[in-house]
Amino acid sequence: MAPELLALTVLGSATPYPAVDNPCSGYLVSGGDTHVWVDAGSGTLGPLQRHVRLDRLDAIWISHLHADHSADLLTAYYGVLYADIRRAAPIPLYGPPGTADRLAGFLTNTPARSPVESAFAVTELHDGHRVRVGALTLTSRAVAHGIPAFALRVEAAGGSLVYSGDTAPCPSLTELAAGCDVLLCEAESDRAPVDDEQVHHTPEDTGETARAARAGRLVVTHVGRSLTPQQAVARAAARFDGPVEYAAPGATFPIGRSATGS
Ligand SMILES: [Zn+2]
Repeated sequence: MAPELLALTVLGSATPYPAVDNPCSGYLVSGGDTHVWVDAGSGTLGPLQRHVRLDRLDAIWISHLHADHSADLLTAYYGVLYADIRRAAPIPLYGPPGTADRLAGFLTNTPARSPVESAFAVTELHDGHRVRVGALTLTSRAVAHGIPAFALRVEAAGGSLVYSGDTAPCPSLTELAAGCDVLLCEAESDRAPVDDEQVHHTPEDTGETARAARAGRLVVTHVGRSLTPQQAVARAAARFDGPVEYAAPGATFPIGRSATGS
């Protein structure tokens, strides 16, 4: 791998609970020696370690605090503080407002607050938040999921990746994804709700977002239980002219100029 080449590895993509062979949402985004765990859905800490140990992780980024995107922060906490992991410093953790308090609320089992800060150096995201992590630049935008939720753009010298998190179609996601090499976008819903607030993409929405953003490739993820991955990909592809693939667990997608045509 070229040092600057960006890569997306799918640790899991199931929702709202893990499948037998597919954890919930979680991804490893790597650029050279920089590794970021993007969403920590239940079951993703296991496969993460096929690629990087917790003591080699440069950061964790969490889109929102639904359990299928964040539950493995709890087990990672025990790994970092009470097992064989020895880190020189806490893991930088970027997440929505309230992340540290929510973790402490779950983990505290004495009158004292659990030392969340010993495991994670928490930074709360805001719309437009931008941070450099090693070889990668992470930009977060607030999106429409009914609770505080963010989408992510990752840029390296060799390419760009945008991840929707969970969201209804929204201008901030389309803006963030403008011209990206790969759009990793959810396709949760079989159909848009009639009465309730829309908080997810249908597969058609997913294709429309990729088309509007002029993404190079679309990777469909977070496919709900009422759809098969093949149905979701086919329906998204009907609205988007570029390549469309499914975020199968274990798959790795090289991203960027030197990955073109691969
Ligand atoms: Zn959600």
